[in-house]
Amino acid sequence: MTPTECPDLEVLFTELEEGTGPALEHAASCPLCSAMLEEHRQLEKDLYRLADPLPPPTLVASVMARVATEPPPLRRELWSGLTILVASLGVGLALLISNDTALSRLGTALASWVMDSKALFQGLASGANALWHTAAGPVTALLVFLLLASLFGLKRLAGNGPNLSEA
Ligand SMILES: [Zn+2]
Repeated sequence: MTPTECPDLEVLFTELEEGTGPALEHAASCPLCSAMLEEHRQLEKDLYRLADPLPPPTLVASVMARVATEPPPLRRELWSGLTILVASLGVGLALLISNDTALSRLGTALASWVMDSKALFQGLASGANALWHTAAGPVTALLVFLLLASLFGLKRLAGNGPNLSEA
């Protein structure tokens, strides 16, 4: 096989566009040219995929199907955050209602954190009592916010408990 047997690439690709021609016929039986054509096809396919500004007609349908099957990440994060909030509130209420029981269950390292939070809650409660008659609504909101914020901090510290406690 001599180089002159293979057609010019420009001719080959022109015939490829047209779909017929002697160069294309040659390429079918020539491993060198058919490999070249296959490479060209792959490159063209990738190029179209990269350069095509229009999404495929099935894109909207496929995206909608994907959205329908799985909830949006933002909503999922919101729900997990809400779950953490509710769980923290529940832990805080449990500590307030049955402090002794909670203390007996928790380790000594965690107990100090609980005592700190207990003092904080007592401070908040006395402050709330003083303000209760003047502005009950805003005070309640503020109390809930402060309670949640402190509980979040307590929960985070409690989560790091094993690192802080000494063996
Ligand atoms: Zn050839």
